[in-house]
Amino acid sequence: MPISRNVSDKLEKSSWIRKMFEEGLRMKQKYGVNNVFDLSLGNPVVEPPEQVFQAIVLAANDTSPGLHRYMPNAGLNDVRDAIARSLSVESSVKLTADHIVMVCGAAGGLNITLKTLLDPGEEVIVFSPFFVEYLFYSENHGGKTVTVPTHKDFSLNFSALQEALSPKTKVVIINSPNNPTGVVYPKEMLEKLATILQQHTNDTGNPVYLISDDPYKKIVFDGVKTSNILELYENSVYITSHSKDLAIPGERIGYVAVHPKCADGENLMSGLIFCNRVLGFVNAPALIQRAVKNMQNVSIDAELYRKKRDFLYGELTRIGYSLVKPQGAFYFFPKSPIEDEVTFAQKLAEKKVLVVPGRGFGSPGYFRISYCVPDQVLEGSIAGFEEAFNEAQ
Ligand code: PLP
Repeated sequence: MPISRNVSDKLEKSSWIRKMFEEGLRMKQKYGVNNVFDLSLGNPVVEPPEQVFQAIVLAANDTSPGLHRYMPNAGLNDVRDAIARSLSVESSVKLTADHIVMVCGAAGGLNITLKTLLDPGEEVIVFSPFFVEYLFYSENHGGKTVTVPTHKDFSLNFSALQEALSPKTKVVIINSPNNPTGVVYPKEMLEKLATILQQHTNDTGNPVYLISDDPYKKIVFDGVKTSNILELYENSVYITSHSKDLAIPGERIGYVAVHPKCADGENLMSGLIFCNRVLGFVNAPALIQRAVKNMQNVSIDAELYRKKRDFLYGELTRIGYSLVKPQGAFYFFPKSPIEDEVTFAQKLAEKKVLVVPGRGFGSPGYFRISYCVPDQVLEGSIAGFEEAFNEAQ
C-alpha cells in the first residue's frame, strides 16, 4: 500500500462530519443547491466585522521593510503583548507577551500543546460528546485518549472523571461553549473541576494540565457569563482562535496562553515555540497577526446566532425532539428519536437534511445540527425534520 496503513485506517474511520459534507456536495449536484439543507459543517455563515476588513487592508498597505520576513516562532511581540494585556483584564491574571504564542488556529494550538506535554502512552481525558479532532491530535503526539461521559444535560460528570483519573493522566481537555452541544460550563463547575485536578496533582505528584479549548468564547447568549480557566487553575493552558468570533477560520489565526504559575511553565513555553516550528507551522501568518492585534475586543454579533438558535429550538421542540437548549456556539445535539442515530441521519438525508451522527463525537444515539447557515436553509430543513420524526414514531 503506497500510503501508511495508519493514515489509511484513519481515512476509513475518520470524521463523520467530512462524510456528511461530501454527501452534501453529491446531493447538491444532484438536486440543486437550494434543495439540500446542509447542517453538517461548523463554518461561520456571517462575514467578519467591518473593523477586521479595515485592519486587513491597513496591514496589507503597510510597506515598511521587514514585515513579511521570518519572525520569532512565538509570533510578533507587539501582537502577543496586546493579547496579554487584554487577557489579563479578562482573567484577572497578570500575563505578559512571554505567556502567549501565536498559532495557526486553535487546531495548531492544540497540536503544539499536546506535542510539548505528552510522552508516549500518557493519558488525555476528553468529555463525550467531544470535538472529534481531539482524538487525532492526541494520537498525533503519542497520547492515549480516555473518554469520560457527561450527564444527560451535558454537564461535567465528576464521579466519572474521578474514576478515569490515573497516575498516567497528563492532560484534561475541556471546551466551553461546547462543540457539539452548545453547553456553557458555569464558573462553579469549572471551580469543582479545578479542585479535583489539583487534588489529583497533589496525590500523585504529577501535574495534570488543563487545556481549555475555547474558540466559541464570545458566542454566548442570554447574558450568560463565561469564565476564563486561567483565573481558576494554575496548571492551565488557554487556547483560542479568531475562527468563530471574527468569522475568519480560513485565515488560521489564534493563540495559546500559559498560566504564569503553570508547572514547568518556562519549559512549556519554550516547547510550544519549538513545536510551532518543527510541526511545520514555523509561525502564525504575519499579515493576519498584525490585523488581529487590535481586534481583541471585537466580535461578530452573537445575536445573529441567537436568533437562529431560538427559531430552530422552537421548531424542534414543537415537533417533539428532545434536546438541551444551548447557551453558546452554534450547534444543537438532539437525541435521535430511534436508537440508531446513523439510520436516523440517513432518514433525514433522504429528506435532504444533513446532520452528523453522534457517534462521530463519541455519543451514539444523538446527532449534531450546525445552525451557522442562512435562515432559508434552516427554514427549508423543518419539513424534513418533521417528516423524519413522525416516521420514526
Ligand atoms: N476546537 C473546537 C471545539 C472546534 O469546534 C474547532 C473548529 O471547529 C477547533 C477547535 C479548531 O478551530 P480553528 O479553526 O481555530 O483551528
